[in-house]
Amino acid sequence: MTAWRASVLTLFPAMFPGPLGQSLAGRALETGAWWLDVTNIRDFAADRHKTVDDTPFGGGAGMVLRPDIVDAAVASVADERPIVCLTPRGRRFTQADARRFADGPGLILICGRYEGIDQRVIDARQMLEFSIGDYVLSGGELPALVMLDSIVRLLPGVMGSADSASEESFSAGLLEYPHYTRPAEWQGRRVPDVLLSGHHGAVAAWRQAESERITRERRPDLWDALHLPKHAATAAE
Ligand code: SAM
Repeated sequence: MTAWRASVLTLFPAMFPGPLGQSLAGRALETGAWWLDVTNIRDFAADRHKTVDDTPFGGGAGMVLRPDIVDAAVASVADERPIVCLTPRGRRFTQADARRFADGPGLILICGRYEGIDQRVIDARQMLEFSIGDYVLSGGELPALVMLDSIVRLLPGVMGSADSASEESFSAGLLEYPHYTRPAEWQGRRVPDVLLSGHHGAVAAWRQAESERITRERRPDLWDALHLPKHAATAAE
């Protein structure tokens, strides 16, 4: 089986692998559990000045990445993998997307800069538009690193225990319960007694109840999505 492969297209190739060269993802990169190649979009500029952008039709501030140049960069790596365009306009990236992409052959990620990328190449290449949250960053590089981190840790053999991912926040639509370790008492604060009881059933019940309480209090949107009938949850989104 060929390893999961990420191709990143960016104007700042030195930003990769960045933090993904460390820890779990970095070790997995070294052992070949996943592959990363990085392409500089500027290498596909045709003129002497290596221009990749131009002013927006219709006027307005900023510059837009040209479709012909982005398309040539995409053509140099394109295969059967989905192509993701990072943009604040995209659908919000979730843990379910990370799981789905981890189960596929890999991803091609296009990092925008300036005002973004000409829409025609996004449409022509049928890119999936994803956002990592409701705020604006200067470029798509950090969003690409965020997406890759969340996907790579789900690949077979990357995380220590297969259970870790199945119990995490979002995997069952709930946030995770709180964690405690030694010492059992610290600055007058005691670990909840049930966690010291050695009673596995009681521990599991406490953790489930805490997960539900925290999700209800902090993320009513997640809680409603679990409890409203399916059609009502969709209408509320
Ligand atoms: N003009 C754009 C807008 O208002 O939606 C913002 C462009 S932003 C300054 C430049 C690039 O950063 C975008 O093309 C995109 O690739 C990336 N970016 C910024 N925020 C992002 C987010 N929340 N999610 C994904 N990509 C983002």
